[in-house]
Amino acid sequence: FDDRDGYVWMDGEFLPHRDAKVHVLTHALHYASSVFEGERAYGGVVFKSREHSQRLHNSAKLLGFSLPYSVEELDRAKAELIKKQGWENCYLRALAWRGSEQMGVSAKRDDVHVSIAAWEWGDYFKDKMKGVRLMIAPWRRPAPDTAPCQSKAAGLYMVCTLSRHAATDAGFDDAMMFDWRGQIAEGTGANIFFVREGVLHTPTPDCFLNGITRQTVIALAKKAGIEVVERAIWPNELANFSEAFLTGSAAEITPIREIAGLPFKPSTLTEQIMADFSALTRRANK
Ligand code: PMP
Repeated sequence: FDDRDGYVWMDGEFLPHRDAKVHVLTHALHYASSVFEGERAYGGVVFKSREHSQRLHNSAKLLGFSLPYSVEELDRAKAELIKKQGWENCYLRALAWRGSEQMGVSAKRDDVHVSIAAWEWGDYFKDKMKGVRLMIAPWRRPAPDTAPCQSKAAGLYMVCTLSRHAATDAGFDDAMMFDWRGQIAEGTGANIFFVREGVLHTPTPDCFLNGITRQTVIALAKKAGIEVVERAIWPNELANFSEAFLTGSAAEITPIREIAGLPFKPSTLTEQIMADFSALTRRANK
């Protein structure tokens, strides 16, 4: 990913992509003191840019640091970056991290860096439209008193990468993670929804990200008169659901066709949410 043309916005300026580097003694590399955002632009406009910039600020705050750039400055940098790259549709990765000014568990409080990179990224899953197959993850989402779980912090992705690798090694596309109580939580990089008799059910985000796409889907469903229930969902309920899908900035709306041997058939509700989401993202640039 480093050997590319184009630009990366880093600490207030646009650098050639290949020059956007950090030192090996970067606090974030040793102690996971970094937070990030994954976003998509549609038709040259970053979808929900402000919400993502605000979440980056909030994620950093939860790790005890603050960003030296305002939400407005981040939004402007993102818009300028994709304009400079000349891309209508792309993925953006904003990152904030503690730098190399001090080494040790205790960090220098004001040593915070911010970057925004972008690249053209098609579907998050190969054969997304066919529906993905999920395995049960070998790792659980940590309890709220063991990690700042509402922060989109790099450290919280350790179990996600391990789980995703376990799934792909076993021939699945991704893993579905339980929380520390054993309730269904989410995918490794996306939230999860289920359908039962025309009603959408999704786990309450009390120990994982309340995704921006998740919130968008809930709003779209309510607007379409579809009932949405946020609640604790246990694995033994899986057989009661007919449809299931993942939501995320990268994953967008991804239908699920299997969870650990149980078949799901993407149908009317999944299709409607996909169509409404795609209409909204297309409209977002108008
Ligand atoms: N959960 C995890 C673990 C994620 O990485 C993501 C992607 N950011 C989501 C949920 C969905 O969040 P969003 O819709 O805001 O992208």
